[in-house]
Amino acid sequence: MPTMRAMVLERLGTPLVMHERPLPTPGPGEVLVEVAACGVCRTDLHVVDGELPHPKLPIVPGHEVVGRVVATGDRVSGFSAGERVGIPWLGATCGVCSYCRSERENLCDAPEFTGYTRDGGYATHAVADARYCFPLGEQGDDAERAPLLCAGLIGWRSYRMAGAGRALGLFGFGAAAHILAQVASWQGRRVFAFTRKGDTAAQDFARSLGAVWAGASDDLPPEPLDAAIIFAAVGALVPTALKAVKKGGRVVCGGIHMSDIPSFPYALLWEERQVASVANLTRQDAREFLAIAPRAGIKCEVTRYPLARANEALSDLREGRLQGAAVLMP
Ligand SMILES: [Zn+2]
Ligand SMILES: [Zn+2]
Repeated sequence: MPTMRAMVLERLGTPLVMHERPLPTPGPGEVLVEVAACGVCRTDLHVVDGELPHPKLPIVPGHEVVGRVVATGDRVSGFSAGERVGIPWLGATCGVCSYCRSERENLCDAPEFTGYTRDGGYATHAVADARYCFPLGEQGDDAERAPLLCAGLIGWRSYRMAGAGRALGLFGFGAAAHILAQVASWQGRRVFAFTRKGDTAAQDFARSLGAVWAGASDDLPPEPLDAAIIFAAVGALVPTALKAVKKGGRVVCGGIHMSDIPSFPYALLWEERQVASVANLTRQDAREFLAIAPRAGIKCEVTRYPLARANEALSDLREGRLQGAAVLMP
C-alpha cells in the first residue's frame, strides 16, 4: 500500500512527530496533491502553542502549500494530474451563511482551515477541496511561491484594508511584510518598517526591499503615516501605531492572534483614526494577488528546511532567527 509522511501535532504545546500513514484517496470534490514546498507561517506557531481555539487534533499543520495534483476525486473540474497548485489557509466555506452570500466568505460561520481544522502541508501529500485551490502555473520556484499563499494573500487583504495612502508603516518585518514592502514600493508608496529594537539585520533587510526608512517599533517615523499594518503578535503595538498615523489614518492588525492591547488615551484614536483586524482570505483576494505578484516582480526570501526538521523551522521563526520565510521541503 502506498504511504505518505507527515509531521503531526499530537498534543498542543508538544513537538511535531513524523508519522507514516496510508496515502489517502481524494473524496468527491477533492484533489490529492504531492507537496513540493510548504511555508511556515506564524499562525502555525499559534496552532502548535494552543493559542487558537478548537484545532483538530492530531493535526498536520501548514497552509502555504505548493504541489502537484496526483489524483482527483469525483466532480472535480478544472484540475488535472501533474498540474501545479496552491492550497491556502481557507480550506472550505459553507456557501450558505450570510457572509458567504455577501462576498465575505473569509468570515464564514462554518469554515474549514488548512492545517488547523483539516490536515495541511507539513507532509509529502495533502488532500484539499479543489474549489479552494489555485492553479499556480509553471513560473517560479516552488519554495519561493509558497509564502505567497498566506503571507502574501492575507498580507494583500491587510494592504487593501489599509487604504491608498502613500506613507505605509509595517510593524513586524517577517514573511508578510517582506512581500508587501515589494508590492508597495512597486506601486510607488513609501514604506516605513518597524522591527524589534536593535534588530539591525531586519532593518537592513527591509531597506533592501524598498523601505525608505527602518527603525525600532518604539521610534516615531520621520513623517506621519497614512496607515500602518501590524503583523507582529504584540498588542502593545496598537497604541504605538496609532501614535504614528495621521488624522483619518488606519491601523490594520493582520495576524490571527495578538497579546492583549493595553489601554490607551482616547486622544490616540480621536480625529477619525481607525483600528481594524483582518480575518482569513476570500478566493477573490487570492485571484487578485496571485495575478499581481508576478507583475510586481515579488521575490520571496526563503530558508529551506527538510520536512523532518519542521520543529527547528518553527523555533527559528518563534525566535526571529530568519529573514523572510521558512519553507519545508518534503
Ligand atoms: Zn459560510
Ligand atoms: Zn498563515
